[in-house]
Amino acid sequence: MARVLVVGGGVVGLTSSVVLASAGFDVVLFERGRVFGGCSGASLGILSLPLAVLDGFSVEYVRRALSLHSRFSREYGYSLLSTQVVVPLKRIRSILGEVARAIGGFRWFRVGVRRVGGLGLSLVVGDTFLVDLSEYRDSLIRVAGRLGVDIREGVGIEELVVEGGRVVGVRTSSGGVVEGDVVVVAAGVWSSRLLGSVGLELSVVPVKGYTLVVRSSSRLGFVVGVDPVFIRPHQRREDLLLVGGFKVVSGLDTSIVEEHLEEMVRVARSVGVVVEEVLEARVGLRPCLGRPLTSIVGFRNLVVSTGHCRHGVLFAPLAAVEVLGLVRRVVGSV
Ligand SMILES: Cc1cc2nc3c(=O)[nH]c(=O)nc-3n(C[C@H](O)[C@H](O)[C@H](O)COP(=O)(O)OP(=O)(O)OC[C@H]3O[C@@H](n4cnc5c(N)ncnc54)[C@H](O)[C@@H]3O)c2cc1C
Repeated sequence: MARVLVVGGGVVGLTSSVVLASAGFDVVLFERGRVFGGCSGASLGILSLPLAVLDGFSVEYVRRALSLHSRFSREYGYSLLSTQVVVPLKRIRSILGEVARAIGGFRWFRVGVRRVGGLGLSLVVGDTFLVDLSEYRDSLIRVAGRLGVDIREGVGIEELVVEGGRVVGVRTSSGGVVEGDVVVVAAGVWSSRLLGSVGLELSVVPVKGYTLVVRSSSRLGFVVGVDPVFIRPHQRREDLLLVGGFKVVSGLDTSIVEEHLEEMVRVARSVGVVVEEVLEARVGLRPCLGRPLTSIVGFRNLVVSTGHCRHGVLFAPLAAVEVLGLVRRVVGSV
């Protein structure tokens, strides 16, 4: 059985590990902190056909991602909550350019204009789902355990080890080398650094985003889109909402800037959402390339897979299936 080393325990690395192990590979997953401790843990978990089309993805591509989520949610045991995105018309100007670009795609999904309590006349679009990232993580970790994936938390990878024109393993933070037949780099914004260790270039722009967990008496059964933030219901607690989004180009800085949080709360309040108290602020560095990348890079047995600035959770199952396809190709050609 071929051994695959996956570097990075975000949504791309964890989902890929499970898909690879389901296909019979011997998988070791290295995460230098905690699984979902990076960007994936800060994600809002909105899987939205219209929002992804607004960002330039084709309807077919997004539908494929959603149908994989539907299959994985049944197989791995996480919930997918069907919902709608509501954009108050008084705030539509903030996304007008994007709407104009996506107008051709509108015939593919349901769009309506309705009065929504508290928000006034609003644009309402469907084909949107929510996942709870902690439930997603816990479900996949459970399945990974059953399939024998060796998850090594707290183990960072310092460099890729190359011999005879092949990547033969990874060097861990404690100096040891772990050998494998294929290496999958799914290290989010840090993927560039790891590839740099073997002279390869990949430009992933890190963009900081936040999600706030807030206590609120507003009861939302849908997502409110008021760029730069999106507000969604908490999946398990009625008294909580998630206010997330925001984009700051800040290099690898993950500090929480109070002014940013205040701005997010101000935007939420400006559309009538009650924010009683901010209970938690999560920060994440979004991997930003033009499109998510899953590809063999530089060496025959080195696969790189990254999330996406706004839709990495949506596309994670698709990335995982693409990783499996590439790993099979590599192993078949060894
Ligand atoms: C505020 C916010 C809201 C978002 N909302 C949505 C949304 O609603 N819907 C959606 O689809 N997407 C959303 N996204 C985007 C999505 O979260 C990301 O695309 C996705 O989480 C990226 O996953 P990843 O696995 O590529 O990277 P990460 O989650 O960053 O995972 C990479 C992991 O690799 C580890 N690592 C790095 N270097 C090493 C090393 N050398 N050795 C070992 N481990 C290493 C890191 O610790 C990290 O855990 C949002 C992002 C943010 C920040």
